[in-house]
Amino acid sequence: MSDIYDLVVVGGGPAGSSAAYTASKNGLKVILIEKEESIAESVRTSGVTWIQNIEEFGIPEDCYNPVKNFEFYSPNNKVSIGDTVARSAVLDVRKTYRWLASQAEAQGTEIVVNTTVKDVIKDESGKIIGVKAIQNEKEIEFFGKVVIDASGFQSTVAKSMGFVKQWERFGAGAEYEAKVEHVKADTWWLMVGEKYSPAGYAWIFPLGDNIARIGVGIGKPDSPVDPTARLKELIENKEGPIANLGKIEPIEFHYGLIPNDGLSRKTVYDNLILVGDSAGQANPLVLEGIRYAIKFGRIAGDVASKAIKANDTSEKKLSEYEDNWKKAIESKIKSAGKVQDRWIGLTDKDWDKELDIISELKPEEFLDFIKADFGLSNMLKLATNHPKLAVRQLFNLVKGKS
Ligand SMILES: Cc1cc2nc3c(=O)[nH]c(=O)nc-3n(C[C@H](O)[C@H](O)[C@H](O)COP(=O)(O)OP(=O)(O)OC[C@H]3O[C@@H](n4cnc5c(N)ncnc54)[C@H](O)[C@@H]3O)c2cc1C
Repeated sequence: MSDIYDLVVVGGGPAGSSAAYTASKNGLKVILIEKEESIAESVRTSGVTWIQNIEEFGIPEDCYNPVKNFEFYSPNNKVSIGDTVARSAVLDVRKTYRWLASQAEAQGTEIVVNTTVKDVIKDESGKIIGVKAIQNEKEIEFFGKVVIDASGFQSTVAKSMGFVKQWERFGAGAEYEAKVEHVKADTWWLMVGEKYSPAGYAWIFPLGDNIARIGVGIGKPDSPVDPTARLKELIENKEGPIANLGKIEPIEFHYGLIPNDGLSRKTVYDNLILVGDSAGQANPLVLEGIRYAIKFGRIAGDVASKAIKANDTSEKKLSEYEDNWKKAIESKIKSAGKVQDRWIGLTDKDWDKELDIISELKPEEFLDFIKADFGLSNMLKLATNHPKLAVRQLFNLVKGKS
């Protein structure tokens, strides 16, 4: 069996659905291929994102729980940052990802689920012209003028082309979505230090209705600790703010991997674009990538449309996409990588001091910092003008001075 499309999108996560959405809106014939039984069948993310981006994307209000307070715990210190308005949110991930896919479908995208892409199809010059997939044990070929690899961490298409290898540095995360006795719906908690995560952090993210996601993320290969085992220990021992949750009744277990190799990958080739986790587009400070997956997914779909309409799907033509996302985030991600390197090396005592520095930030500065949106607030001025040397040192890292 084989089918012919303008655009073949592999992966029905936020990157794939967003690319399919703009391409279909631009009039292309688009297929979106997802290996699971339905879109967002498994949840592999905690779903924290930012209201500003949610509004930019038009995500409906019933898809998220707004958050305005942030609590940061280290072994012997604690910072509470309270805002007057909600600038962050915890997504109902399944609902949001399905909404994104439904937006694409409404524009004409054909969605096939339960269909796993296994290989690529190349022309005689070695350029990609389609993918081979398995559906109910039968092989199907999907031909396209452009293929978008939005398969997430696995980067199935780019790997099959021989363009990329497995990520070397990545985060592994485990979490329970659970019914809890007590949780403030407008507050999230981050926990740092050896007992929570030897290279990463633990979290409690509220969804409203006394539901919270309690999780642990651990950097690999920095630490051999298994996040699932550590999560169970933290819950059993009721460490830190977990003690305040009272009875915890797990509803669902989530597990996932996220690239942490910086923006090391080339993301355009002849007839091929990589987007989202497959392109490594994640903020290294908290390893969040949903907003980038949606934003750059939409741009990828748009650039692919223009290229297909111009009958030129060369790497050169598609590089508009790479120029665009690099301009938006490359320097921020590089700076955030330096802060991440600093954080990986901190001892528990250092973390206690780091929280003192963070407590100097205003709510909007804290959020811009965590989001790696350096430059949006006064953070860079803090590097020169803050009365405390420790604060100046941290922000000089962001500015690129050690
Ligand atoms: C534990 C954890 C917590 C996280 N928390 C946050 C957070 O709080 N906020 C945030 O912004 N980001 C978070 N992230 C990162 C975020 O989940 C990703 O950046 C985001 O999901 C990337 O979207 P994507 O569409 O590129 O990939 P994915 O969401 O991984 O989607 C890829 C899709 O492709 C499908 N697929 C894969 N291979 C094939 C194949 N061969 N054939 C067909 N389909 C295939 C998959 O089934 C999947 O549906 C977290 C990640 C982890 C691991």
